[in-house]
Amino acid sequence: MEVRNPASGQVVGEVDVQTSDHVSAAVRTLRQRQPSWERLGPRGRATWLRRLRDWLLDNESDLLDRIQSETGKPRQEALLEVTLACDAINYFSDHAAEFLADERIRPHGLLTIPKSRLRVYRPHPVVGVISPWNFPLLIPAVDAIPALLAGAAVVVKPSEVTPFSALELARGWREIGAPAVFAVVTGDGATGAAVVDAVDMVQFTGSTATGRKIAARAGERLIPCSVELGGKDPAIVLADADLERAANGIVWGALANSGQICISVERVYVEAPVYQRFLELLTERVRAVRQGAGTPGAEIEVGAMATAAQTEIVRAHVDAAVAAGATVVCGGTAAPDGAFFEPTVLTGVDHSMVCMREETFGPTIPVMRVADEREAVRLANDSEYGLSATVWTGDRARGLRVARQLEVGAVNINDAYTNLFAFGLPHGGWKTSGLGTRLGGAQGIRKYCRQQAITAPRIPALRSEITWYPYS
Ligand code: NAD
Repeated sequence: MEVRNPASGQVVGEVDVQTSDHVSAAVRTLRQRQPSWERLGPRGRATWLRRLRDWLLDNESDLLDRIQSETGKPRQEALLEVTLACDAINYFSDHAAEFLADERIRPHGLLTIPKSRLRVYRPHPVVGVISPWNFPLLIPAVDAIPALLAGAAVVVKPSEVTPFSALELARGWREIGAPAVFAVVTGDGATGAAVVDAVDMVQFTGSTATGRKIAARAGERLIPCSVELGGKDPAIVLADADLERAANGIVWGALANSGQICISVERVYVEAPVYQRFLELLTERVRAVRQGAGTPGAEIEVGAMATAAQTEIVRAHVDAAVAAGATVVCGGTAAPDGAFFEPTVLTGVDHSMVCMREETFGPTIPVMRVADEREAVRLANDSEYGLSATVWTGDRARGLRVARQLEVGAVNINDAYTNLFAFGLPHGGWKTSGLGTRLGGAQGIRKYCRQQAITAPRIPALRSEITWYPYS
């Protein structure tokens, strides 16, 4: 399979399309090696992950080149991938022993008083990580890191659009000489399906449509799966907001990674009194954004679209909105080869339009005027998705009040993306944006484990128990 640089169209390499036989063989090998990895214990495993972090830093420049060559994104956004992967290693390695420690459970219930009770975390032997193309190094890393620390062996199936960054992770793992419990298999959706059929647990990040298929298949196999899916994140700008900050934050929140982030700002609701002023500030900033191919020296903010197919979706959303009466305030067109889509502001939009309902995953900012906070909350919640949201207000208590009414997995007040940078917090969507245990915190590692209850009579044990035979 050929992999192309989306900005230039040039082929950057080829990868194998691995069949289900390849995948089963890889998983069989991982399964054999996993018990000795588990026996290393969390501290021993953390030592290897920290060596991987050092390898990532030592090889940062090559990694950034690699990420840019298969995504066309700006250097800083590639750097964010490496930085956050290192941050994830630090956070989960520092806490692995604490999060995975056996828990002594206090007595409760008459019949358990004379027993010792332990809750023990034991890893799923082989975890399958299936990843999308928008963060080709970061997402495989943040899903694999806690799984490895939990004691599982991991097989990653990166996106067919961007497989090389994950292959770099595998190279790093080999070069530091770590136990061979981390593998990458390449291919398309069929290879991903073979992973679901072979492993003991699946961690999937990608579209809602694929997530449904994977969850259904995992359900048939009765293996756990956790799915992080698409979004249609609202931004709410209240009349008391610092409008300059809101405009800056929303431009970045909507355009970073060319709008191809699960938690990109995809729709904006502005209270009527500040609508006009906010729109002016927003448009001014969108017009100032520099767009171009994400190459090492490029001075740009917005890079290429990942694929021409993704550009087509964006174009369709914008065209449909315009056909239904929306106005393009700036931008609105795609490059002829589909490599770029101009940063775009749309007004005159409403919830009958596809650009306000379906995930666009592009550099578009549809803006809607609302009467008040209540209408903003109602419209923000009028979505099948529930990933995250931003609220912009000068009143912290008001921000918290609005946040608690939103049907989403995370809310950033006067900020964008911060929840994603904080590995102690849960990351995960509500509604059709996700299902399963969240990334982050203790559960971010424990989700890769099976829980085991171990009981034993306290010493000295009675010869017989009151519940045993003979009944009396
Ligand atoms: P996608 O669903 O098309 O593909 C994701 C992965 O699934 C790829 O590796 C693909 O090969 C594989 N796949 C496809 N069909 C499969 C099948 N039947 N069985 C197993 N694997 C299969 O997603 P994409 O287009 O690569 O990524 C963009 C999507 O990812 C967007 O919807 C975005 O919102 C979402 N996303 C979500 C999060 C989150 O944390 N919620 C993060 C990043 C991206």
